[in-house]
Amino acid sequence: MNKYHMTTEKKKFFDQFATLLHEIYHIMGFSRQLYQFFVDPATNKRKALSDTYIVKNNAKFPYLIKSPHVLEYAKKYFNCPNLEGVPVENAGGEGSAGSHWEKVVLGNEIMVADQVANPVLSHFTLKLLEDSGWYQINYNMAEPYFWGKNEGCQLMTGKCQFHSNTCNTDAAEGCFYDYTFQASCKGDTFTDDCKFFTGTDFSQHDCRVPENKAINDGHFGEYYGLKSRCFNGRIKGKKRLHGNMCYRSECRKGVISMRIGDQVYKCLYEGQKIKPTGVDGYVTCPDPKDFCAHDEALCENDCNLNGRCVVGNKCYCYPGYSGASCGIKNGRPLNNAILPLYKPGQDPKDKPVVKPETKPVVKPETKPVVKPETKPVVKPETKPVVKPETKPVVKPETKPVVKPETKPVVKPETKPVVKPETKPVVKPETKPVVKPETEPVVKP
Ligand SMILES: [Zn+2]
Repeated sequence: MNKYHMTTEKKKFFDQFATLLHEIYHIMGFSRQLYQFFVDPATNKRKALSDTYIVKNNAKFPYLIKSPHVLEYAKKYFNCPNLEGVPVENAGGEGSAGSHWEKVVLGNEIMVADQVANPVLSHFTLKLLEDSGWYQINYNMAEPYFWGKNEGCQLMTGKCQFHSNTCNTDAAEGCFYDYTFQASCKGDTFTDDCKFFTGTDFSQHDCRVPENKAINDGHFGEYYGLKSRCFNGRIKGKKRLHGNMCYRSECRKGVISMRIGDQVYKCLYEGQKIKPTGVDGYVTCPDPKDFCAHDEALCENDCNLNGRCVVGNKCYCYPGYSGASCGIKNGRPLNNAILPLYKPGQDPKDKPVVKPETKPVVKPETKPVVKPETKPVVKPETKPVVKPETKPVVKPETKPVVKPETKPVVKPETKPVVKPETKPVVKPETKPVVKPETEPVVKP
């Protein structure tokens, strides 16, 4: 590799580096010329080519990889138990056909034939390399991947209406399916008849890159920076109507919160229209379940865009960067300020934010407070029941004395009722609030 030709622009670095990795994976085994040399690691003998690669002439996608680990993984991933093989590219010449994943089926895998937004090294490519019999694979290095997941066998028909990421109108504005990029609707030689929200010059349209605000002439309330995501809608800008916007957002308990200007709006269901105050237009909510699945698979602070996020929410930092979210450069913390979701003091969940250290103190205080409150509630119920039994036995008037005797009777009944109601109410509200708020503050 000639480093002279590598970009020095940070946001474009990974796109170029991914191209390099792509070529290396060809050399390592992902090549129609190499399948015939794959070996069975048990016997160390060459497998038949048809154990790895078959051609079904009349199928929509005629070239299929059916090596055992790939096939087993793909059946579960696509939710297609009858899958015969994972389609590889049928378009393109000798250089492309048979040696890349089919773009319609595995859109932004690093081993599709085209340059794509956010190329991902998924389990599919790693499984194929394992099936060569030449390598042991560390699957901890796979990156989270969602394209076509659980879409069923119908995905293999290549019919666009069965694909959740397709779009209809050329050049219509939308979002890349992982919500990180602004995209436009287009097809190409590798997408057959289908169109997807992709685009060109992906790095110019990454919501997470602050410099992109100038390029995109950010309209009202937009935010370009870490933890910003792309949303569809129709918002009238200074010069034109916009179909995709970048807003600071996050998932909380399956609900998407997005900050538009100084206001926070919530997406509760897919297709919900949000009309921000002071804005001509609306934002259309994505499916919160899908959006949050992507969000949860990503790493803290998007690895500060200084590394790649692998499965298990672990950042692998580029050289020179370190820390759990790659927020340290050459030993010094980067000053990557992240816009808070709410204006200071307005987050409904962080009103006690002023005293982050008192929260652990509050908890032990509330428990003793809760118990005395519940006892008086319990007593009126138990008194009529307990007293008739205890009165003839001991002292009907001395409550403190009666209690030790009645406790063995009362507690088994009240404990399961009282405690589970109070504790789960207190803890889940406070704990999740503390962590997400303090970590982004601490790390930069
Ligand atoms: Zn290639």
